[in-house]
Amino acid sequence: MNRDFSYAGSPARIVFGEGKRKTVADWIGKAGCSRALVISTPHQKADGEALAREIGPLACGVFAGAAMHTPIEVTEAALKVVSETNADCVVSLGGGSTTGLGKAIAYRTDLLQIVVPTTYAGSEVTPILGQTQAGRKTTVRHEKILPEIVIYDPLLTHGLPVGMSVTSGLNAMAHAVEGLYAQDRNPISSLMAVEGLRAFARSLPEIVREPNGAEARSEALYGAWLCGTVLGAVGMALHHKICHTLGGSFDTPHAETHAVMLPHTAAFNAAAAADVLAPLTEIFKGSIGGGLWNFASAIGAPLSLRDFGLTEADLDKAASIAVQNPYWNPRPIDRASIRQLLQDAWEGNRPAD
Ligand code: NAD
Repeated sequence: MNRDFSYAGSPARIVFGEGKRKTVADWIGKAGCSRALVISTPHQKADGEALAREIGPLACGVFAGAAMHTPIEVTEAALKVVSETNADCVVSLGGGSTTGLGKAIAYRTDLLQIVVPTTYAGSEVTPILGQTQAGRKTTVRHEKILPEIVIYDPLLTHGLPVGMSVTSGLNAMAHAVEGLYAQDRNPISSLMAVEGLRAFARSLPEIVREPNGAEARSEALYGAWLCGTVLGAVGMALHHKICHTLGGSFDTPHAETHAVMLPHTAAFNAAAAADVLAPLTEIFKGSIGGGLWNFASAIGAPLSLRDFGLTEADLDKAASIAVQNPYWNPRPIDRASIRQLLQDAWEGNRPAD
């Protein structure tokens, strides 16, 4: 095999284990900070306040206004609180939306970020920030955006509802599948991707059976770290382009859209990336797209774009947008084949073997 790659390690501190939430104050101190602003969504406000109490004198306040897609107005409101409380670091407790707000603050202030993730989205280990202004989403990549410390405490994910665990898990798995065929993949990103996919293949069915099983919750969060790290390290392709198109132009729900699209985009690329996707056939038992579809179906994932209120006319528009400024993809794309792929995902068809 002709090996030819470039590898850069992610300069973040990762702390993983049950109960590690209790070490947040220690990590604030070790980082030389003493005024932590805890941030969360309104939904997780009580959890944010509880974490601030645990942090004790090193916490200077709670901002519970984080929202999906990091609206600039929310960032501006949070920056006011950063300034009023004289915060010297942010502790983001939550999923990708809360992590996004922490990143938006750090991008503008260079404050240290500690992230305590409660979903499997993986944003905590990427230097990428997506933000919206007047309904327009822009994405920026910068070293200031990458959180410095991530504390994964599986106990915090026991309350993640089963449906969200399934879609969030498939969202994470999509990072790994696209990472496997990324043009700029390297041996470490590929090892992490396969290990992350194995972790979710083992844990998600268990979580559906027993939502509070400690081992499965730990395994899934471990998978989230691996898959998120792949997302942060290498370029994404057609799958992410389509999901960004659907989310950005039709406001479809983030994790659910990834969950529906993954078997279809994997099937689309299966032949062009057969060698690097080969581990999927063993992990998911079947063809690349069909095996993933069977897996998603067995754990109760949404299977059809139609369920998000999209019409077939929307698919026409989405296909046209998705082929504009395309991301690199292992199989060349054209509008007709993307339109067909969207039709299959809309109807909820199982990809052919
Ligand atoms: P989210 O953060 O929007 O969370 C959805 C809801 O679930 C929120 O109300 C949240 O408070 C709640 N929630 C989170 N954890 C919970 C738990 N353990 N128990 C109960 N409720 C909980 O959802 P998400 O899927 O994690 O993140 C989606 C956002 O993250 C999108 O805006 C997406 O673009 C972004 N994202 C960014 C990157 C990146 O690298 N920049 C990567 C992945 C996702």
